[in-house]
Amino acid sequence: MTRLLLIGAPGAGKGTQAERLAETFSIPAISTGDIFRHNVKNETELGKQAKAFMDRGEYVPDSLTNALVRDRLSQADAANGFLLDGYPRTADQVAELDDILGSMDTGLDAVVLLTADTDEVVRRLLNRALEQGRADDTEEVIRRRLEVYEEQTAPLISVYADRGLVVMIDGLGEVTEVTGRILEGLAARGIETL
Ligand code: AMP
Repeated sequence: MTRLLLIGAPGAGKGTQAERLAETFSIPAISTGDIFRHNVKNETELGKQAKAFMDRGEYVPDSLTNALVRDRLSQADAANGFLLDGYPRTADQVAELDDILGSMDTGLDAVVLLTADTDEVVRRLLNRALEQGRADDTEEVIRRRLEVYEEQTAPLISVYADRGLVVMIDGLGEVTEVTGRILEGLAARGIETL
């Protein structure tokens, strides 16, 4: 049973690493960004509400995001562990997650912080825009997303560091290299696959 968070600036490589870690630990990777994008694509009520915020590089309101995660974590596949990618991103979301995990009588094993310098993440995001055409990957929106990350999400790192949960990983380099660093960092805390 492994319960992990993955935190990092947009473009730090969270999505790619989340999938690899989820596979390694046989736990679901839960990406709020992916869930929102899926809802936008299918034009659900949630998608309609989230889209305006996402297109501007702003966070979707906590009330919507928290309800979504509470529902997702109540599903059977999350009972034996999970990796949350891109949640929590605000202080309110940290409090909500504490509450959800508290009511499940459990807690987090580690918070993986993926670092990358700003020039590199902007370069990656612009590249991804060319490849995938994500609506929120224009230069102006990318800049806003990085700002919002610094304002609202970066301060959460010290909250988890105070709890002794943070594993800081250099996100620069080959994908497999970075995965290796994360697995080493987790193993050093006794978090390993069987
Ligand atoms: P991501 O793919 O994780 O970068 O998320 C893409 C977009 O979805 C973000 O820029 C936000 O607009 C929205 N989003 C994803 N996760 C959250 C969250 N935890 N809180 C608020 N908005 C979120």
